[in-house]
Amino acid sequence: MNDSISTLQQITLEQAIERSNKSEYHACIVGSGISGAILAKQLTQKGYRVLILEAAPAKDMTYTGFKEYVSNYYRNPSKDNNAPYPENPNAPMPRSTDVSKLTPGVDDTKGYMVQRGPLALDSTYTRVTGGTTMHWEAKILRMLPEDFAIKSTYGVGLDWPISYDDLMPYYRLAEREIGVSANVEEQGFYGIKYEENYVYPMYGLPPSYLDKIVGKGIDGAEFELYGETHTVTVRPFPQGRNGIPNERYDNGSGFKPVGAISSHQVEQGGRCQGNNNCVPICPVQAKYDARKTLLDALRTGLVDFLPQAVASKVVVNRDDHSVKHIEFKHYSSTERSEFTLAKVSADKYILATNAIENARLMLASGLPSSSGLMGKNLMDHTYLLAWGLLPEAAGTMRGTKCTSGVADFRYGRSRAKQAPFGIDIHNDGWGWATGSPFTDIETLVDEQNRFGKELRKSVVDRISNQLLFAYMVEQVADESNRVTVDPEYKDALGNMRPIINYNLSDYSKAGIAYSRETSKVFFQRLGAEDFSSYSPLDYGYFNYQGENYYFRGGNHFSGTHVMGTSADNSVVDEHQRSWDHPNLYLVGSGSMPSIGTSNTTLTLAALCFKTSEYILDEISKQSVKIVSNSDFRLAKEAGHE
Ligand SMILES: Cc1cc2nc3c(=O)[nH]c(=O)nc-3n(C[C@H](O)[C@H](O)[C@H](O)COP(=O)(O)OP(=O)(O)OC[C@H]3O[C@@H](n4cnc5c(N)ncnc54)[C@H](O)[C@@H]3O)c2cc1C
Ligand code: SF4
Repeated sequence: MNDSISTLQQITLEQAIERSNKSEYHACIVGSGISGAILAKQLTQKGYRVLILEAAPAKDMTYTGFKEYVSNYYRNPSKDNNAPYPENPNAPMPRSTDVSKLTPGVDDTKGYMVQRGPLALDSTYTRVTGGTTMHWEAKILRMLPEDFAIKSTYGVGLDWPISYDDLMPYYRLAEREIGVSANVEEQGFYGIKYEENYVYPMYGLPPSYLDKIVGKGIDGAEFELYGETHTVTVRPFPQGRNGIPNERYDNGSGFKPVGAISSHQVEQGGRCQGNNNCVPICPVQAKYDARKTLLDALRTGLVDFLPQAVASKVVVNRDDHSVKHIEFKHYSSTERSEFTLAKVSADKYILATNAIENARLMLASGLPSSSGLMGKNLMDHTYLLAWGLLPEAAGTMRGTKCTSGVADFRYGRSRAKQAPFGIDIHNDGWGWATGSPFTDIETLVDEQNRFGKELRKSVVDRISNQLLFAYMVEQVADESNRVTVDPEYKDALGNMRPIINYNLSDYSKAGIAYSRETSKVFFQRLGAEDFSSYSPLDYGYFNYQGENYYFRGGNHFSGTHVMGTSADNSVVDEHQRSWDHPNLYLVGSGSMPSIGTSNTTLTLAALCFKTSEYILDEISKQSVKIVSNSDFRLAKEAGHE
């Protein structure tokens, strides 16, 4: 494998338009993140031709291009989520460094996402080829069965139109695609079940030394909550990164991990080395990112990939409201905002630009959905951080960002009253809360005048004892949290930017307050000094029942085009098909009516597999077949022009 991957299926604007004019595309997919890549792979492996419009340049499909990202990260003084990825005014993305405390009634326009508040949300995504998985953490849990029915069970949020059982076979496909490392016997809790004899593709990664110390201290702790006893056990998390393949996978066929894109490691499958750089980039590419799926799709020879093509309008037919074409702006350079306005058409249209961008694009196209729910019900996981210093060195900074945590507050009766939560034990010290190790070094140099050997020893002493609990608290659907657009706020290409209205309900705040109480018990049991403090000056600050807190966004945008049982209560159906536009699919976490306490990507990937099955069935009903792949021709039968 060499760097020639970029030439595989990249086409010119003119070629895309020509093929579109000849009705060669079964589907036009907008976005090449995990959602778009799965749909592209599934459709093309069955012999159908797709066009992918991708807003970003495609140079990260080469090994050289990827290495540039790594170098950018090393060079960049800011180590935020988007530090490796170059600024691109033509397809801008949110950065956490743009977020500051809001003034009531004043829009904060500093970042790409306009923050209307009342609370500022610092979650991000990445508009590069491969999408946000380029910098995700890759903690990859299934949702609990009860998460799919929180309205009917607990009277909060929204129910799904499908159940865990419906999604179970697709979870299996998603775990194969991503290459998940986990052990079934450690994951089957609180209703999570698997098919008989199921094993994950790879064995679970070992817990870190820190996990073991924390487990020794807090395992067995009991909490009474609304008449139920929650007993704490530290458990490993499933990981979307390469471990040791399980020889029993797939009835003994085993599993072949995928390593770096565009290098010999594709064959070898680089393994996670535990160096803790996963967010914002895994230098050895042991962590899954969507380019791995995209590559499989490209290899079929049936993907036309058009980078630097920013979809700007979905245009529908007046009579049946089906999509007529997608308009996009094709720019020649990230340095300039000159573009060519073009349009393409296909049998099916699949928007896979993520929960914020899908809704933004639909609203900018004047398509708010007949339920009026487009952009509404924006959800994200809310994180409360609690940090302390352990009495002993705990080997902090070894392992992935997060190898284990606590799942024992994710379920149960209390969900009728307060938000449930999962707990992550962070292997990267206080980084998320205080900016450690950089801030530790500043303190030791500026305030304690330490240099040379003494400084090095002090840094190690301090960091090795750091413990951070990150509480991932569920947020339920609330129509007032939403994405909107306004012609007043546009990017360099003249596309409307997303405006975010965001707040936390008392339900969320009660869950956060309770999670903080558990952290105090944990620190006490561990003999750790609690350093957590929540300043009113922080942009995520809020006060609840007389106590100060701040929150951080979980980077799990969801709910902006929820699925449901009818056009009145949702935007898409259980296949992520738009109720209003029969040939349009809005895919990804925007379709999720609730997010439970699991990071969202495994579930959205499972949904994309389910959707691909439905679309394949739909296409096959149109009786269109591919006769030849090398000389692309279609046998056009009934009803296909
Ligand atoms: C810091 C961080 C950590 C995370 N950690 C985890 C984790 O541990 N576990 C987990 O499950 N999830 C995690 N996530 C979330 C996860 O990354 C996302 O759920 C997932 O990547 C979403 O995939 P997607 O394909 O739907 O969207 P994206 O990955 O955002 O892809 C969208 C694609 O569409 C393109 N695009 C956007 N607009 C346009 C347009 N107008 N025209 C053409 N193309 C367009 C983009 O360039 C991009 O390629 C994390 C996210 C962040 C930011
Ligand atoms: S710990 Fe290192 S090797 Fe493993 S996924 Fe994270 S960055 Fe990659």
